Amino acid sequence: MSGHGVSSDRATVADHALDGFLVAMPKAELHVHLEGTVQPRTVLALARRHGIDAPAQSEADLAAFFRFRDFPHFIEVYMRVCECLRHPDDFALVVRELGEEAASQNIRYLEVHFNPEPHVRKRGLTFDGMLDGMNRGRAAVRSRWGIEMRWIADGVRDAESGLRSVTRTVDWMARLDPRDGVVALGLGGDEVGHPPAPFAPAFRAARAAGLHVVAHAGETTGPETIWSSLRDLAAERIGHGVRAVDDPALVAHLAATGVPLELCPTSNLRTGVVPDAARHPFRRLDEAGAVVTVNSDDPALFGASLTDEYRLLVGAFGYGADGLERISLNAVRSSFLPEPEKLDLLTRFHEEFRALRLRLGLPTRPGAPPAGDPLTSQEPRPKAAPGTHRRSLRP
Ligand SMILES: [Zn+2]
Repeated sequence: MSGHGVSSDRATVADHALDGFLVAMPKAELHVHLEGTVQPRTVLALARRHGIDAPAQSEADLAAFFRFRDFPHFIEVYMRVCECLRHPDDFALVVRELGEEAASQNIRYLEVHFNPEPHVRKRGLTFDGMLDGMNRGRAAVRSRWGIEMRWIADGVRDAESGLRSVTRTVDWMARLDPRDGVVALGLGGDEVGHPPAPFAPAFRAARAAGLHVVAHAGETTGPETIWSSLRDLAAERIGHGVRAVDDPALVAHLAATGVPLELCPTSNLRTGVVPDAARHPFRRLDEAGAVVTVNSDDPALFGASLTDEYRLLVGAFGYGADGLERISLNAVRSSFLPEPEKLDLLTRFHEEFRALRLRLGLPTRPGAPPAGDPLTSQEPRPKAAPGTHRRSLRP
């Protein structure tokens, strides 16, 4: 998943040691869509397997088709990918490939969004069959690379099936076993014209079934969608949430409550939600005390990996090693792992970071960085009390 566009920003990363740090450091990702991780070569293989017309006949042409042009084209690519996912084995395959890619970036933990209801409605899959395939892939990834994954089932707010997209998803999720790995209900799709409030009963049912809840909000619409997701859905994390920056009271509320933001900077730049990196509010939100995480959203479609996102934090937002480590740990703390597993993962991250800093000759965080240290001199100083960054949600 090497980037087409963001990788070209790499020249702005002056310090090779810092780049070595961000490549090697342990990572966790909370906002990545399974359907958005499928690589062109896999789409080609699946299209051939199922006798479907692929949008292009060679891997190179398909890679060109995948490259982001505009939002309608993005949706077209996304739909063409989904059309190729016809059998539970296909889901096992794409999860294994996601795991292999994660291993190459030292991503140790992922919460992976997927949209089950359209797969069932349009392509004759069953909810359980699809999940069985995904869990076969998950088990293979765990045993091969020691990487853990959990699932977030998104309802689609603008689905042709309307509210049923969400209620069918919840009805199915409510009878799953925790070992099935589905930890949360999410809400995706077009925010414009589809506010959160009508989905409140479905989200209430999900919470009553012991599931966590998240929602995409404040990506293509303003702060009011984030407020409503918090108030009407009791969202425990906000997908994107980038427009929170337009409402200081909302930013203060997010900082005070510790509800994390799953920020996806490259996605915002590609889709035009934010016109350029200089105007992206990632760092402003961080400095205001919001719990920020960085995520790739749809890495195969946006041409940027999670490592590329961290590279952007350095090249565009001026973060140093301490900031990268803190943001990586934010993701672990903001995860929906049960508390003992979360603490285990945090311990492993701390140990890995310590060993990595030793190897690269960096001081251990926390601790005052030595004056002029090229790796830490860019470290932003969040104005909020450090405690607001440490806060994690209930398991
Ligand atoms: Zn998303």
